Amino acid sequence: MLRNDMLEKWDRENFFHPSTHLAEFARGDAPHRVIRTGSGCHIEDRDGTRLLDAFAGLYCVNVGYGRPEIADAIADQARELAYYHAYVGHGTEASITLARMVLERAPKGMSKVYFGMSGSDANETNIKLVWYYNNILGRPEKKKIISRWRGYHGSGLMTGSLTGLETFHNKFDLPLSQVIHTEAPYYFRRDDLNQTEEQFTAHCAAELEALIQAEGPDTIAAFIGEPVLGTGGIVPPPAGYWEAIQAVLTRHDILLIADEVVTGFGRLGTMFGSDHYGIRPDLITIAKGLTSAYAPLSGSIVGDRMWKVLERGTDENGPIGHGWTYSAHPVGAAAGVANLALIDKLNLVQAAGRTGAVLNAALRDALGTHANVGEIRGEGLMAAVEFVADRDGRRFFDASEKVGGRVSAALLEQGVIGRAMPQGDILGFAPPFCLTDSEAGEIADKTARAVASVL
Ligand code: PLP
Repeated sequence: MLRNDMLEKWDRENFFHPSTHLAEFARGDAPHRVIRTGSGCHIEDRDGTRLLDAFAGLYCVNVGYGRPEIADAIADQARELAYYHAYVGHGTEASITLARMVLERAPKGMSKVYFGMSGSDANETNIKLVWYYNNILGRPEKKKIISRWRGYHGSGLMTGSLTGLETFHNKFDLPLSQVIHTEAPYYFRRDDLNQTEEQFTAHCAAELEALIQAEGPDTIAAFIGEPVLGTGGIVPPPAGYWEAIQAVLTRHDILLIADEVVTGFGRLGTMFGSDHYGIRPDLITIAKGLTSAYAPLSGSIVGDRMWKVLERGTDENGPIGHGWTYSAHPVGAAAGVANLALIDKLNLVQAAGRTGAVLNAALRDALGTHANVGEIRGEGLMAAVEFVADRDGRRFFDASEKVGGRVSAALLEQGVIGRAMPQGDILGFAPPFCLTDSEAGEIADKTARAVASVL
């Protein structure tokens, strides 16, 4: 085994880490940590420090760490057949079975599933399919995509553009011109404090309608949104939001993409977020929870009305010119099959809903009256604590104070991982579905202690 000091040297010299302050890391001013193993809701680093991972990696290790059923399925598949492609009608038992399992669980009206590797590439696929669809329908001008400020849809050129967070645009010349953003359904930060949730929902729908009118309805192809805003701050929508948005989209024949990379396969206590909010999507993006991150695999679930047009397109133009080498990778597919079976066997979707309520209540008990806590919110096993400089006047902290980052660092000192969300002073939680009630209590108690040490 490599010595720790050697590993750190190699890390700082060679490894280009994502979402990292590169200069600080290279200088040794930013933390380096080598994770060695994981079990249940805990990970352990090379120094033996054990951490309660209340963010399930990047809200993806939904069934928890160290599941032998999934590890064995991966090893068996790699031994039997590590790889073959999925082009021109090829498949494996694992990929065909997984497509079936996904569609059995998907909301009504979905027809097929296309497999990729990451949430970002699945969203790239979705946008290409939307454009293809409108070209086949003979309306090549209907191409713009509407996304929301604070939405997160990936880090590619198109998906980074869809993402409505400055950090992911800054200095990358994004967003691309085909993407436009509309208001985030962020009730806590609404401008008009007198608005009820319903009035704020009506306002969001009116803003969307105005944007569509300004751009021209014939130029707008699709709207993309996460059922619950994730990376943008863990923000459940205000009452009636999805119904109101869908009414606008239907009026203008605009497709709806539900980005369920985080919410797919149980995180809200329902199999999909679309089930939870009555969303009727044309495309659904899936990734993280599909394999619980035991192997990289994503998917685009295509609805009936689009599927018919895609088939027609290939009758007219020949095979669809879109594929990844690793589409439906057999090892990823085997992980997916074992993961979905395990979720069923252990009733983890119901568990996520139940434990999510416990975690939310515990956070409210521990922090609900703190002068610097503006809101505690969540849905299923997604929760957030938003910090404010002055609760009554709703003054926000200056970004330079890095309050969210400081609280999450203080929490880490106590052995719990929460995520300082990339915009605003928000501490996010999205633990594995196997979280126990006592672990939920531990997260809340230690968060309260971390807050007390910082604010
Ligand atoms: N969509 C959503 C809602 C996400 O949260 C993420 C990642 O966090 C993505 C897409 C992108 O997925 P990936 O990082 O696998 O490319």
